[in-house]
Amino acid sequence: PRGDAPRSVAVLGSTGSIGVQTLEVAALFPDRLRITALAAGTRWQELAEQARRVRPDHVVIADEAHLGALRDALAGTGVEVAAGTDAVRELAEEAEVDVVVAAIVGAAGLRPTLAAVEAGKTVALANKESLVVAGALVEAAAARSGAVVVPVDSEHSALFQCLVGEPAGSVERLILTASGGPFRLRPAETFDAISPEEAVAHPNWSMGAKISVDSATMMNKGLEVIEARWLFGVHADQIEVVVHPQSVVHSVVEFVDGSSKAQVGPPDMRVPIQVALAFPDRWAAPHPRLDWTRTGPLTFEPVDADRFPCLGLAYDALRAGGSAPAALNAANEVAVARFLTGDVRFTDVPRLVEVGLATARPAGTLDGLLAVDAAARRAAADARALTTA
Ligand code: NAD
Ligand code: MG
Repeated sequence: PRGDAPRSVAVLGSTGSIGVQTLEVAALFPDRLRITALAAGTRWQELAEQARRVRPDHVVIADEAHLGALRDALAGTGVEVAAGTDAVRELAEEAEVDVVVAAIVGAAGLRPTLAAVEAGKTVALANKESLVVAGALVEAAAARSGAVVVPVDSEHSALFQCLVGEPAGSVERLILTASGGPFRLRPAETFDAISPEEAVAHPNWSMGAKISVDSATMMNKGLEVIEARWLFGVHADQIEVVVHPQSVVHSVVEFVDGSSKAQVGPPDMRVPIQVALAFPDRWAAPHPRLDWTRTGPLTFEPVDADRFPCLGLAYDALRAGGSAPAALNAANEVAVARFLTGDVRFTDVPRLVEVGLATARPAGTLDGLLAVDAAARRAAADARALTTA
């Protein structure tokens, strides 16, 4: 941003949980942030409503079938309307955009995220899947362009904040906290009967359907382990997961001298979103504060690897490297979608992920990774549900 001019922000995935909360944060800082572009997948009415309120320069709907409807809804507003996934990617590269909020869900966010990084933008990254699929490519692109990637994911925002000002080589371990999801205490024998409604009802966070199911299977934490590997340049062995059901301690950095730092606060995604938008500054805001006299006990326990096999599969993929995380992610996206439509059971999700993981093969380029992504999707889509009676 130039001088005192507001930062120009493009919100990709504006109609989702993170996108909506990003607009809430931006509304608190009209002098510092100007939303100049919005993009969404299919929900054109909500996108039009946002655009009428925020008045960006550009709005893009990924699904081209809704271009006409969106144009009509925004007629006379002066907002420029476009459609298609290429148009979404072009928003991320717009010369006047300073900050790209990458809040698309799934591997669909990869191309626009990579484009923003290649264009040297500040990227407020919620779309963890892009680092899971192509972390090495994103890292290399950032090194070339000088793009700054600031995490929005609450655990990674916590780690990022703990690491500010710390010298290179000072990290021993990163400890990612996990709420444990809605089934932390549910008997494993009943996991077959888990319904989509039960799986999307997260105890501490209100999020999109896909990440909610990921939290229920704990694949979300597995994706976050891989995300942490690329954001912070650590090995799989240096990343640990601990279950912390209260979601007050958002994660912990343990340093080589035995000292540790944690970042804490009420579970509210608007805080890490704001941290990313304001970095390296901090802006005063009325988000809820922690009442230290009312947090009750803060507890920590190990992950039950038998009941939540997805976390181990994600570690396997990270250790295997190459395209294995891309295959894991693609199969998981298909497995979650199949579970949400009632096509397979909750306990099929890790099985379908294993089927997809087996399709991984050497791939380093974007096209190679996307080919693996496609093959893993086909494998997970074709595999029969194994636990269906
Ligand atoms: P969501 O399902 O609520 O929203 C997804 C958004 O992406 C929607 O606006 C949708 O229109 C858009 N979208 C989907 N496909 C698209 C495409 N091809 N082109 C353009 N837009 C497209 O999801 P969410 O919960 O907001 O999560 C978004 C991302 O943030 C995910 O990667 C998730 O893992 C991550 N994240 C979310 C939370 C949270 O609290 N919701 C926390 C941490 C990380
Ligand atoms: Mg998280």
